[in-house]
Amino acid sequence: MLNLQRFSIGVGDRFAHQARSQLRAFQLAAQQGIDVVPVWNKSNREHTFIGSHPQSVFDAAEAAVQALGWSKPWHVDADHIRLETVDKFLPCSDFFTIDVADSIGQPSDAAALGAFVDGHPELLGTVRIPGIAEPFTTTRADIERVAAKYLLAVREAGQIYRHIADRKGESNFIAEVSMDETDSPQTPPELLVILAALADQKIRLQTIAPKFTGRFNKGVDYVGDLAQFEREFNDDLAVIRFAITQYGLPANLKLSVHSGSDKFSLYPIIRRALVATGAGVHLKTAGTTWLEELIGLAEAGGDGLALAKEIYGYALAHVDELCAPYASVIDIRRDALPSAETVNGWTGPQLANALRHIPSHPEFNASIRQLLHVSFKVAAKAGTRYTDLLRANEAIVAKNVTENLFDRHIKPLLIG
Ligand SMILES: [Zn+2]
Repeated sequence: MLNLQRFSIGVGDRFAHQARSQLRAFQLAAQQGIDVVPVWNKSNREHTFIGSHPQSVFDAAEAAVQALGWSKPWHVDADHIRLETVDKFLPCSDFFTIDVADSIGQPSDAAALGAFVDGHPELLGTVRIPGIAEPFTTTRADIERVAAKYLLAVREAGQIYRHIADRKGESNFIAEVSMDETDSPQTPPELLVILAALADQKIRLQTIAPKFTGRFNKGVDYVGDLAQFEREFNDDLAVIRFAITQYGLPANLKLSVHSGSDKFSLYPIIRRALVATGAGVHLKTAGTTWLEELIGLAEAGGDGLALAKEIYGYALAHVDELCAPYASVIDIRRDALPSAETVNGWTGPQLANALRHIPSHPEFNASIRQLLHVSFKVAAKAGTRYTDLLRANEAIVAKNVTENLFDRHIKPLLIG
């Protein structure tokens, strides 16, 4: 079986120019004795926006692996795929994030529901989970309610999993099931029911991405109750350990944290939990790398800075249209967005400081950062003008990409 190791980080490379500078961050971790597996991820939606093809992600990753002589594991994640989008990812991916969030809450058939509840008497009554102080007390009505909400989604995950397994062979890919893109978070008792149902579907999942409590805004820190997150994260870990034994799920099954970049206040909490339990984690990031490209171009000055400013000006003029698809995952203060004229008067370091995620920096502006995070389509529209500038300013862009990934992500999360 293709096994996902204990620590892995999903990296997004929207324009397929940063695989090497991303991989360098993993090499820096390895030099400090921490093995972290890079997983290059790109969703169907991202490919559509950029006009790229899944094969390009594999090609860029493979070229980086060869150029840097990386001999440890690496993977390519078909991110957030569904039955209707998975096929073009099959030849060039060995990691599949099966997204069934859209089917959460959809009615599932009564016979299947009854069979599930009858088949799981162990979920009823007082359920003691090692590592969780308070046992879960669950009635038949509770199980029915949770199963009614998730069963159809889980059965769809089974369908997609078998579709992939039939074509690739079950031992040749890593399966993740994601339920993060939905309205309400899944509680630890719900996670247990979901894992029981996924096991019934014989899905050999190695990671699961629940929706956690609190807000996971794009490219900025977590917003929510840290104590509650810590409790729930630790309870989720305990539920997973329990479900591995109870339902024979893969022993390396771990949590996947989506929209995981830039969640600086969570990393110490997650790290404490990993150290205390020996658990692993998959942290999925994507857009944080494209922002480092912009920061690098701003610092480069000249044409790079000019294009970065132009992208901001265009984004500001189209703010409603660009932000609409991301309304639930950004919190932009319109009054904090400077006019294009103001930004045009800035130096390169000023724009870089506004964008770079150092919250304590006096020039940092979370609203500019979030707006540009969702504005990668604007750079895609600039086409080779954008990518030629990335090439021309490769060293300064690469430095920013590597530092962001290593210093602000891998280090606080996994090294400390
Ligand atoms: Zn996700």
